[in-house]
This record gives sequence, C-alpha cells and structure tokens, in this order.
Amino acid sequence: MGTQVAASTHGLHKTYGRGEASVAALDGIDLDIGAGQFTAIMGPSGSGKSTLMHCLAGLDEVSAGRVHVGDTDITRLKEKALTKLRRDRIGFVFQAFNLIPTLTAKENILLPLAIAGQEPEPEWFDLVISTIGLTDRLKHRPSELSGGQQQRVACARALMSKPSIIFADEPTGNLDSTSGAEVLGFLRRSVDEFDQTIVMVTHDAVAAAHTDRVLFLADGKIVDELWGPDRETVLERMLALSNGVH
Ligand code: ADP
Ligand code: MG
Repeated sequence: MGTQVAASTHGLHKTYGRGEASVAALDGIDLDIGAGQFTAIMGPSGSGKSTLMHCLAGLDEVSAGRVHVGDTDITRLKEKALTKLRRDRIGFVFQAFNLIPTLTAKENILLPLAIAGQEPEPEWFDLVISTIGLTDRLKHRPSELSGGQQQRVACARALMSKPSIIFADEPTGNLDSTSGAEVLGFLRRSVDEFDQTIVMVTHDAVAAAHTDRVLFLADGKIVDELWGPDRETVLERMLALSNGVH
C-alpha cells in the first residue's frame, strides 16, 4: 500500500501577463504531496515557490494543468465551492503571523471555526494547546505575546479544523533561531503525532532539515528533491543550484 496523496499537480503551468511581457512562473509541475508528510519547498527568489503554494491552495487560478486536493480537482471548482474548500480543508501559516490584534489568543485560534459556525472538539482543542505550550497564554492579545508565541498561536489556528493540508510560507522568517526552532518543532510534532500534512516554503536549510522531503524549484520547474534532508545536504544542493548545476 502506497502513501495517500494529500494534494497533487499534473502539468501545472502558471503564466502572468501576456505576450512579450508574460512570465512563466510555473512551467510544468507534476507533483504528489504525500499525506502525513512534511514537505519543504526551496529555491531562489522568483523561482515560483509562492505561486506553487497559491495554486495548490486554490488562491491563484492556474493557466494550464490540474490541481487536486485529496480527490477534488480544485481547478474545476467555482469560487463559492473553492472558498468552502479553503475554509474546511486548508490551513495557512504566514511569515507575518496575521493574527487579529483585538482578539485574544484563544479567540484567534477559534476564529476560522467560528466563521464556519462550528465549535472545536474540546479534547482536540486541549491537546493542541498543551502540545504547543500555550495553556497559560490563552487570554493574552497578540501584542502581549512574543513573536514565537504569536506564531504558535497561528499554528494552533491552522490545526484546529484538522485540515487536509497546512501551507506555511516562511513561518520562521520573522523569528530568532530559538523561537524558530520551537515553531519548527511544533510543526514536526503535528506531522508525527497528529498525522498532519504540511507544506512549507523556506529559505533556511535548518528549517528544511525538520522536514521529510525538500523540493527545489528553479525557473518554475522542480529541478531536484531530497528525502530525509539534513542541513549540510540541503546547503550542498542549494549551492549546486545557485551555480546552475541542474
Ligand atoms: P518565489 O516565491 O519563489 O520568490 P514567485 O512565485 O513569487 O516566486 O514568483 C515567480 C515568478 O512569477 C517571478 O518571476 C515573479 O516576478 C512572477 N510573479 C509572481 N506574482 C506575479 C504577479 N502577480 N504578476 C506578475 N508576475 C508575478
Ligand atoms: Mg515567495
């Protein structure tokens, strides 16, 4: 029995603009994201990392090809169905945390469910909060929390609906290395203990070393991949790619 696929792309192309001014941001991506795996996307600035994530998450329309989340071909969904799929089956963690400043940590964590008119399973809520180490911070507002704590709140918010897949765009980009390691450790535990599927864009070889698989993008194509990465191997591949060896 093979690994289940949480999301996939077939012949994915994304072109911005028209004619001579057009840019092929994604130039033929065929990819399976395994369920319950932690995948990193790396590559130089402008290589298409954010575009790939946005197409996988249904935030950006594709120019050609197919994107599936589970069994659903999201390129065939109308806006309303796509909005519902994003709400129910996809979680996001952003570099800038994106918490609501006037809400407490707990209110932020429960906001996506509240918008959907749902309540969390109490046991699941308690498990996530204790795992993430926020039990005594639930009444604090974002301004009363450190950057690392705010990002852990954002991770808890993403996990709360048990999404099919969580997308994290440079989640440690605004954090010092200690807070970054805490957030990465929590994402890792979410995969190992909760069977969560996570896709993370990162520039950082240390962050990538927490994942199961690293995809390297260049010029809108997947040019390399690495399973069971460690920091040194990731750095070697990054260096090779920056020297044009691919
Ligand atoms: P990365 O996240 O790896 O830095 P992006 O996915 O943001 O790369 O961008 C890939 C390419 O697509 C780049 O050449 C970028 O300039 C171009 N691009 C991205 N978004 C837009 C847009 N909204 N309009 C025009 N070009 C874009
Ligand atoms: Mg980007």
